[in-house]
Amino acid sequence: MKARHSLRRDPGVAAFPLPTGRGFLTMDFPIFDGHNDSLSRLSPYTPETIAGFFSPNMRGHLDLPRARAGGMGGGLFSLYVPADPALAEDGKMEIVRMPDGSDVRLAAALDPAYALQVALAMLAGVFRLEAAAKGQVRVARTIADLRACMQAGALAWVIHFEGADAIDPQLNALEVFHQAGLRSLGIVWSRPTVFGHGVPFCHPHTPDTGPGLTDAGRALVRECNRLGIMLDVSHLNEKGFWDLAEVTDAPIVATHSAVHAICPAARNLTDQQLDAIRASDGLVGLNLEVTTLRPDGQDDPDTPLELIVRHMDYLVEHLGIDRVGLGSDFDGGTMPLALGDAAGLPKVLMQLRQHGYDEAALRKLAFENWLRVLERTWRE
Ligand code: ZN
Repeated sequence: MKARHSLRRDPGVAAFPLPTGRGFLTMDFPIFDGHNDSLSRLSPYTPETIAGFFSPNMRGHLDLPRARAGGMGGGLFSLYVPADPALAEDGKMEIVRMPDGSDVRLAAALDPAYALQVALAMLAGVFRLEAAAKGQVRVARTIADLRACMQAGALAWVIHFEGADAIDPQLNALEVFHQAGLRSLGIVWSRPTVFGHGVPFCHPHTPDTGPGLTDAGRALVRECNRLGIMLDVSHLNEKGFWDLAEVTDAPIVATHSAVHAICPAARNLTDQQLDAIRASDGLVGLNLEVTTLRPDGQDDPDTPLELIVRHMDYLVEHLGIDRVGLGSDFDGGTMPLALGDAAGLPKVLMQLRQHGYDEAALRKLAFENWLRVLERTWRE
């Protein structure tokens, strides 16, 4: 394991203001979160709807005031294209035969022209938000950007696509989106694209739910490697995972997943997958959403923070303390009541602290590991 540098005494991040008060919550470091869907809440991405990000908004989990209250210095902000609302319900889902012979419902592939149109509207919304933020939110394209944001107390917004639905097989859109700031890409959400196949939301279920990457998917992996776009396996099925692992020369990252051995959801990672992530010097951002945490897979907010610690312990044991972070899934699912929203992030760290993680370990889990893996993946 090679740490590129220590951020511990790095003046580039030391000045980040965190809420102080009870007990150990006098930390002087930020939290970098590996996944949220908050952009989706700003639809239709007009100045009026975007303004909702800047004022306390008790809908959902994350806005600028709550990010600040939770000590969040940055994160991967997902661009997720929803199913076309003009479609009938049966046009949004399809029945897929699993390798074990069972049939499950999976979200249907999107029309590429529709996906591109929505992705452009959402990306335009990101840039409108950045302009309206007057320096308080900044799109980060380089590690230097990330550090500068954290030093300034601004929120670093890393553009992530949750699914390559808007990207053509010729990869022209990938080139353009990269120029615009795309730095992290999930090949699929839980539906097919021309590049691969996503996992359905099944519990209990194996992640082995269908075919692997297509030839276009393998080409996409290589091109992301060349451009320095991080690849996210969080919604990829198991064969796709192994295909990606074979092709990629970058660390393997799951931005928002949890442990299959504890919560056997198809979305979660098996021990073999964790071994591969470790071997690649990658990272798992622990999902805090209850159906990925709970052994029973129930959508029940009455879920104790101790369960987050249990997943974290398992990940740290299998991956090492340098390859685990947070990937909340704020605005993408149900959070434990005890966490609430982004303002509650320090409660997770407090729980870990009480469980025996020291400050050096907490710094790694909170942001250092994310910066390490991004620095290893990005080209500049
Ligand atoms: Zn997701």
